[in-house]
Amino acid sequence: MMKDNLFQKIIDRQIPADIVYEDDRCLAFRDINPQAPVHVLIIPRHKVIPTHADVTEADRDLLGHLHVVAARLAEQLGVQDGYRLIVNCKDRAGQTVPHLHMHLLGGRDFRWPPG
Ligand code: AMP
Repeated sequence: MMKDNLFQKIIDRQIPADIVYEDDRCLAFRDINPQAPVHVLIIPRHKVIPTHADVTEADRDLLGHLHVVAARLAEQLGVQDGYRLIVNCKDRAGQTVPHLHMHLLGGRDFRWPPG
């Protein structure tokens, strides 16, 4: 597994981040280029899953945990009235960091379809 990606450096505290939540399984920090008033990235702490396409049955609990954390963070950050969760998978979807991450966006209206 690639353990030298940008988000691994944030986990290892080699580069700074505005961390809003962490536990034994995940880390959440504010996106450096926010696309909404609230824009947080939630990432697995110990396992580097390069893309969503690499998810396996063994990741079921971890992915469920990321969703539970997202719901609690949405409350904590005051966007429980409506928010969007996004996982970009591979180049065509705009993924730039090969370490699975969930975007939590809120604090504004979002259009559908997303474009
Ligand atoms: P994605 O394009 O889905 O792979 O998302 C990667 C996200 O990481 C982008 O929204 C970037 O703005 C964000 N990002 C890149 N570098 C940093 C950083 N040092 N700290 C926080 N967020 C970052």
